[in-house]
Amino acid sequence: MGSNGALTFDVEKNPNAVPATEREALLQNPGFGKVFTDHMVTIRYSENTGWHGWKIEPRRPLALDPATLVFHYALEIFEGMKAYRLPDGGATLFRPDANARRFRNSAERLGMAQMPEDLFVESCRALVRFDRDWIPSSEGASLYLRPFMIGSEVALGMKPSSEFIFCAIASPVASYFKGGASALTLWASENFTRAAPGGTGAAKCGGNYAASLAAQAEGLREGCDQVVFLDAVERRWVEELGGMNIFFVFDDGSLQTPPLTGTILPGITRDSLITLGRDMGLTVREEPYGMDQWQKDAESGRLREAFACGTAAVVAPIGKVKGRQHSFTIGDGNAGLIAGRLKAALTDIQFGRAPDQHSWLDRL
Ligand code: PMP
Repeated sequence: MGSNGALTFDVEKNPNAVPATEREALLQNPGFGKVFTDHMVTIRYSENTGWHGWKIEPRRPLALDPATLVFHYALEIFEGMKAYRLPDGGATLFRPDANARRFRNSAERLGMAQMPEDLFVESCRALVRFDRDWIPSSEGASLYLRPFMIGSEVALGMKPSSEFIFCAIASPVASYFKGGASALTLWASENFTRAAPGGTGAAKCGGNYAASLAAQAEGLREGCDQVVFLDAVERRWVEELGGMNIFFVFDDGSLQTPPLTGTILPGITRDSLITLGRDMGLTVREEPYGMDQWQKDAESGRLREAFACGTAAVVAPIGKVKGRQHSFTIGDGNAGLIAGRLKAALTDIQFGRAPDQHSWLDRL
């Protein structure tokens, strides 16, 4: 720690940083997760020395022995959060303390070292401060941060790792979906499930995503954008998408989202929208919702809207659902009113256009 309590990182500046004119051109149209900033943060952990060696260094390949645990047993967890450009030119993170807490919980579930929350948040702040010129200022764009940690012990034995590497990289991003604001078509996965009771569904670990990709490929073949997963026991209850939580909006104006029972990721966007929905005077329920009921309610008109939400996708309206046993349209198949209002309320706070009533912003 430095004298003011802030961490002092060893700094190695990137001698080949992208020139300003080229960076500005990249920021005009960055896509999602294809363009990266000049630097990264790395921190090491070993059982003997604890957390050590925090560095800001040029973004470059990690050199790892082929017997490193992560390659064999998927010992990896990660986070996703964004830094936003404020109207006065400043920058902010959104609820990084919540990501830090979830990162610790993910580590605990995978038997990995639990990084202190302030170390996690300081790492993210340090990276954004160092690469702040990479935060886009165009409408809706932001700097996506991807902190992650791998088991880095060189060993093939099936046991928890005694060494870890934490790394955080950053990527300027525009909209997550190529189609922009149009409503999503979901593939209801009836063969594949994502998470079972007692499993790792509530952890943000790479293995969960690897296990969801065959379903995602099936969905894409069926002409859908994303997969919606059902519970693993009854194959009846709607859980979440491959990388987003889900909300339903009813004709009485109420909102519903599946409860956090250990098989879905506790999304920070989900949590924020529950709060903002209640701020708007809406009733918000955290209760299970069945796939058959969903179709019935969409057909009767009781269900007005459905939308997905997450850091990357923000709020994404769902227009249609397809599956082997289901096929239906929600509302008129386009973006709904409540989804739009919630998205505006959330992004107005994130981009500093509205008061930060819940103290969610971490100004840098
Ligand atoms: N569910 C899954 C499986 C996810 O990967 C994500 C993205 N992190 C979410 C939900 C949404 O979480 P958040 O709002 O914290 O980004």
